[in-house]
Amino acid sequence: MTYFFGNGIFCLLWIIEALNKPAKEDEMEYPDRSPCGLLTLSDTGKEVTLAGWVDALRDHGEVLFIHLRDRSGIVQVVFTPESTPPAICARAGLLKSEFCILLAGQVVKRVEGTENPGIPTGDIEVVAKDLTILSRADPLPFQISEKSMVAGAAVKRDEAVAEDLRLQYRYLDLRRPRMQDHLIKRHRIIKGVRDYLDEQGFIEIETPMLTKSTPEGARDYLVPSRHYPGSFYALPQSPQLFKQLLMVGGMERYFQVVRCFRDEDLRPNRQPEFTQLDLEASFIDEEFIYALLEELTARMFEIGGIRLLRPYPRMTWTDAMNTAGSDKPDLRFGMTFKDATDIFSDTNYGIFKQVLMRGGCIKGMNVKGQSERLSKNVLQNEYAKEIVPGFGAKGMTWMRVMEGGLESNIVQFFSDRERNEILERFEAENGDVILMIADPSWSLVCSALGQLRLHVGERLGLIPADAFLPLWVTEFPLFEATEKGVTSSHHPFTMPDRTDFDPENREELLSLRSRAYDLVVNGEELGGGSIRINDRNLQNRIFKALGLSDGEVEEKFGFFLRALEYGAPPHGGIALGIDRVVAMILGTSSIREVIAFPKNRSAFCPLTQAPSSVAVEQLADLGLLDLGGAQPYPGSKEQQDLIDSLSWVSRIWIDPQERPAIAAAIDQAKAYADRINSRCVEEEPMFSVVTVANRTRKGTESRVSQLAEKGDLFKNSPSTKDGYFKVASILE
Ligand code: ASP
Repeated sequence: MTYFFGNGIFCLLWIIEALNKPAKEDEMEYPDRSPCGLLTLSDTGKEVTLAGWVDALRDHGEVLFIHLRDRSGIVQVVFTPESTPPAICARAGLLKSEFCILLAGQVVKRVEGTENPGIPTGDIEVVAKDLTILSRADPLPFQISEKSMVAGAAVKRDEAVAEDLRLQYRYLDLRRPRMQDHLIKRHRIIKGVRDYLDEQGFIEIETPMLTKSTPEGARDYLVPSRHYPGSFYALPQSPQLFKQLLMVGGMERYFQVVRCFRDEDLRPNRQPEFTQLDLEASFIDEEFIYALLEELTARMFEIGGIRLLRPYPRMTWTDAMNTAGSDKPDLRFGMTFKDATDIFSDTNYGIFKQVLMRGGCIKGMNVKGQSERLSKNVLQNEYAKEIVPGFGAKGMTWMRVMEGGLESNIVQFFSDRERNEILERFEAENGDVILMIADPSWSLVCSALGQLRLHVGERLGLIPADAFLPLWVTEFPLFEATEKGVTSSHHPFTMPDRTDFDPENREELLSLRSRAYDLVVNGEELGGGSIRINDRNLQNRIFKALGLSDGEVEEKFGFFLRALEYGAPPHGGIALGIDRVVAMILGTSSIREVIAFPKNRSAFCPLTQAPSSVAVEQLADLGLLDLGGAQPYPGSKEQQDLIDSLSWVSRIWIDPQERPAIAAAIDQAKAYADRINSRCVEEEPMFSVVTVANRTRKGTESRVSQLAEKGDLFKNSPSTKDGYFKVASILE
């Protein structure tokens, strides 16, 4: 400051600047910071400035080693009295894990024999000359370091950190190189998508978050409006209607990396908010989408070093169900189904006979060469009795192929012809195991056998983990049956395969196919879309088929139908679930690993504690209070009711402070029930628990049977499990 002696103002500025300056010991600045992880032997001799976090420390008395970590990686820094000023050595003695520091030093080649091949910079280290502690860290809730400081030493990884703890301290969790790598790769993948779509003439356009409900099959997240008390915006389940309106608006090719919100029941690998790559184009057909998406996804997977073979195969929904029992078949392994219904058309085997009399079907699959691992005992007692009933089927027929023939508990009921035809149909050889399911319902046979295929594939390790097999699934049913009518399999804007249907004829509606397509990789649906309806009348008939009244249609979709009256071009599109695609490319155990700040499995954010209660005043502002005076409990209405009724039923007083813990327990129980439900089919369960009423005759008293007292009552019951007796259903 040469103008110090000038005038008073300059003098004042000088004083302020001096006060703002860090104290002497913190005087370092950030000129040309070198990324820690990129230093190499060729930097030997260079003076460098580094900034980052103390990943790990190793104190050798006089000499202190640290691993300094920034986003680029880790480098070892050494503080030694030989080369580091004493004051700096003393300051280094204060360092602890995750202190944020700035340091200057010289890059040197490591002494031979002390290299660390576990880190890319393991041939060099930085001899510290100066050190500034920028920010201290409290003791950590869990270990962040993933790299050993000693060559060859096992990495002491704390794998067992509870996920909720990781999410609560996500900012620390994100410092782990693994998490940083996930987010960096996610960024690269999305950047690649943007670049490619830009090349193809797509433009990214944002659509509203505060909007009207878009039906994608889930509940809406609602946002109350302060200006219109009692009215709500819905957060978008997808930008479906807006992207179609953009086509009507002549944008021709749109895309968006967009957040969508679906209030679904808790299921693994779902998030209440998730990211889609959403796109739409005009004047195109299915082939355009297939070609575009194949190039796009191949590029995305390439970033993870995965090559997807093209063209991607295609399979109709019917074939997918018939051969793999799923609308998202995993092509990585065989065991595809063969139909055996015709083989048994005049069978004497009672169970099959009954199934066929009721118009059912019999399907099976060959588990090649696995008879040694699928013993009689496993097949009968585990699969036929326990596992397959859990998939909704009444039972399973198994046959092991031995010495050119079939071995099982029922083959004696099959004729020679039936046995030979089975061997032929399933191309069976010695050592194979044939599994069959028969049922009056085709969809039940497909779905149970489909689940069995995955179960056996996983259990016997038949699914290669490093293969990636994409597939287009096409020609879905346009509608699915509901109790009374039909509902859209995708969404109601999907073009049907034909347009001459009667919207009131349920049977006909259920026979319609849609021009929808799903992109499946390794049995996971990564995205889906369709060619859309661009004709108002047809769209109206679809709404009618769905049972919507004219009033409902007008109220929900009037604005959209109006747009279809103004020269709507033919168009179609698709959306990819970005979180899922990235998780698959990076091979992470859940989508939460590739999202910076996800909710936990219970749709709760352990970091911010959202959702949380809000001030009564806020509710009042939004017109959400019963202004009659009742003050609501914290938590959602549904949860209050549940907790209140739990309190009532169990006759226990629940303190308001205990509510969050109880709500969490209820959520866990619900998640568990949902998991079970998701595996159930619609059929009645085979065994059920029924309420038992006291049937004692009037005028007599109930008393405990002597047999029960002696424990003889269930003495002859066929089996017990976990302390339960299996009783004849007549007792029910
Ligand atoms: N909106 C659909 C979805 O979110 C995708 C589409 O049809 O483009 O699944």
